Amino acid sequence: MRKIGLTGGIGAGKSAVAKLLVSHGAVLVDSDLIAREVVAPGTPGLAAVVAEFGPGVLGPDGALDRPALGALVFADPERLAALNAIVHPLVRARSAELEAAADADAVVVHDVPLLAENGLQGLFDQVIVVDADEQVRLERLVELRGMAAAEAKARMAAQATREQRLAIADLVVENNGTEAELAAQVRTVWQRLTQPAR
Ligand code: ATP
Repeated sequence: MRKIGLTGGIGAGKSAVAKLLVSHGAVLVDSDLIAREVVAPGTPGLAAVVAEFGPGVLGPDGALDRPALGALVFADPERLAALNAIVHPLVRARSAELEAAADADAVVVHDVPLLAENGLQGLFDQVIVVDADEQVRLERLVELRGMAAAEAKARMAAQATREQRLAIADLVVENNGTEAELAAQVRTVWQRLTQPAR
């Protein structure tokens, strides 16, 4: 099994690259998705979050009220650490489970938004960084995702810099062009990931 970390700044095109890699046969471990699953209604994860933060973090439907929880941990590093101490081990355990279920020759791609920020490169055989100019990312977030420009800028500023991310990259996918250009690059990356080691 080859274990690949996939990361990139917000709006760079991580999800698009992940999808293309899956179309070539990669097994995707999506940490954002898993982080939601481990606190879904009825899970021990959600029970632990409620025990820590109180029933105010539940919506009327019994599901986690993310904005309410976000308001509690935002700008409070201790409470954020408490939340991470609940969620991170659950995400790691579920990721390991998915990985264990993959074939021996599988390429397992972990989509990890904050890989560089959290210094997680050591967990992977190779790290792919999706890179795009700030202006391009900003335009995509505003035009395609409907995000306010100020929010997009603030989120970018809170992440690692492009240089910090590129410093840990084994492979870089540049995504300033068209989707067809992106697909062509990912095809090349896939070939490099799957060619026999020499
Ligand atoms: P986040 O960090 O928020 O998860 P991301 O890096 O996963 O972002 P995507 O969701 O893949 O980014 O891409 C952001 C938006 O830009 C999406 O709407 C996606 O469809 C679009 N997009 C990505 N690459 C291209 C491209 N080469 N041409 C046009 N649109 C693109």
